[in-house]
Amino acid sequence: MPVAPEPQGEDLAAWSSALRAQFPIVAGNPGLAYLDSAATAQKPQAVLDVVQEYLTTSNANAGRGTYPWANRTTSLIEETRGRVKAFLDDPDPDTSTVHFVSGTTEGLRRVALDWLVRELREGDEIIVPFADHEANASPWLEAVGALARQGTRVTVLEMPYQSASRDYDTERLAELVSPRTRFVAVTHVHHVYGADMNVHRVRRAVGDDVVLCMDAAQSVGHLPVSMTALDVDFAVFSGHKALALPGSGVVWSRGKRGAAFAPLGWSGTPNTVGIASLGAALDWLDRAGPERIERWTVRLAARLTDGLRTLAPYEVLGCQLSLAEQSSVQQRHGIVTFRHRDIDAADLGFILFSHGFMVRADGLCQGRGGETRSSVRVSLHAYSSREEVDRLLEVLAGLA
Ligand code: PMP
Repeated sequence: MPVAPEPQGEDLAAWSSALRAQFPIVAGNPGLAYLDSAATAQKPQAVLDVVQEYLTTSNANAGRGTYPWANRTTSLIEETRGRVKAFLDDPDPDTSTVHFVSGTTEGLRRVALDWLVRELREGDEIIVPFADHEANASPWLEAVGALARQGTRVTVLEMPYQSASRDYDTERLAELVSPRTRFVAVTHVHHVYGADMNVHRVRRAVGDDVVLCMDAAQSVGHLPVSMTALDVDFAVFSGHKALALPGSGVVWSRGKRGAAFAPLGWSGTPNTVGIASLGAALDWLDRAGPERIERWTVRLAARLTDGLRTLAPYEVLGCQLSLAEQSSVQQRHGIVTFRHRDIDAADLGFILFSHGFMVRADGLCQGRGGETRSSVRVSLHAYSSREEVDRLLEVLAGLA
């Protein structure tokens, strides 16, 4: 949680600019603007230093060997488990578990194939958010397919959404839930609309007994994420989106409803250096303050959205009314996705890169219930600057 008093107003810009200097790839490329942090985040020097230090002083395998480097590596992994629990504001770290996986996609698949398949019984129902990321849809269908091959029938119901805001429709969800509902998959922050999906309302709608699995890929590292505040049973995220190295994801599980999560089978050598980088990234994020990162990225996203609204050919996707720092409707985060009426999204992506902007421009890995046309996504982080947003708006205005 934030350690220093929060700067207000312009100070937040100075704070971001000081942080920006800590990201060598960002500071070293002043002519380029990296606006694709929802795809993967850049790494601060502190994380790179820990990687270098680990590999040059202690690199060994974990849980094997009795010499100091091996022992240090084993402890590092245990300490990082504790670090993850603290970062997630875990209310009961003695009973929860943290398993390291390669990322959100693998983590959700492990929950599906190693946990859900064992928990579900004939006639059970699960609810799947098909308009979220594909990684939070296909694993649940895979699990149901595996059960069907064993002769166990499980029904998959589609998560209902509100048509205007694209938030979950918790009234219709409450009507869908029955005593057979065992499991609901949800997303914390939507990767296309940047919207907080109000998971606390989902818990209220489904009652106390249903297991909730939360895809936290777009929230951890971007805003405070509290397992004390959110009564979910699983939280899964990718280290690489939270400033750590790729291959360092997490499955956190509360272990309150049903068996605690444990991956099936023999686990080989863990991604030791990735896990070391994750610990360093969480330390960096704690020092920077997830709450400040949230306020800064929301402010930049609002600036970009406000600018786009004045340019006729652009359509910003998702609920616009809610993009305000203290919105009680549906809080939006540092992701702005849009289309140009006449320019294809892929072409717009190339045009923007010719001006130095790196953005995502394609179908954005949506599940089958999501957007059917490509779009351009701008996603921000602590190191993103107001100048980048303003320059982008200038270029977009030139195409209007
Ligand atoms: N879920 C969401 C919401 C995402 O944004 C992403 C990454 N785009 C994923 C899952 C998959 O993450 P990864 O590729 O790191 O496994």
